[in-house]
Amino acid sequence: MKTTIGGSGFTTRRTCPLCGGATWKTGYLVALVDDAGEKLTRCVCEGCMEDGPEGAALRMRVQAEQLREQAEWLDATAPEVAAITPDDWTTVEQAHAFQRDQDREFELAEARAVLEQDARRNGGPPPGFVAVERDGLPAGFVESDGIPF
Ligand SMILES: [Zn+2]
Repeated sequence: MKTTIGGSGFTTRRTCPLCGGATWKTGYLVALVDDAGEKLTRCVCEGCMEDGPEGAALRMRVQAEQLREQAEWLDATAPEVAAITPDDWTTVEQAHAFQRDQDREFELAEARAVLEQDARRNGGPPPGFVAVERDGLPAGFVESDGIPF
């Protein structure tokens, strides 16, 4: 058995198949190859490379133990997950709506920051005008009597 290095053709980032650790986004792939030349895994992480064969083997044993513990937890918890009611289960639609709300809040905060920065730079809306928003976004200034600027 040995490790080999090859190009990936693109930068990639994956979980190390030996230790479960993160790999850096690199343009190379280090593979674990058996004596017949068969690739057993790819994307060996730099931590495993730095620790050498014995260190990598130790990292593998630690990962194996963590996976056993994770497997026990999964087996023990699955029945409780199966009993969750639909009202208590987050759907993909809810997650996407949450993300849209988060994105919208971020856009609003950014737009407000730009408006505030402009107001500070320009000394605020001209006298007799107030800043207005449309659909939650800064829409410019209107005269304080409501007539658009
Ligand atoms: Zn590793």
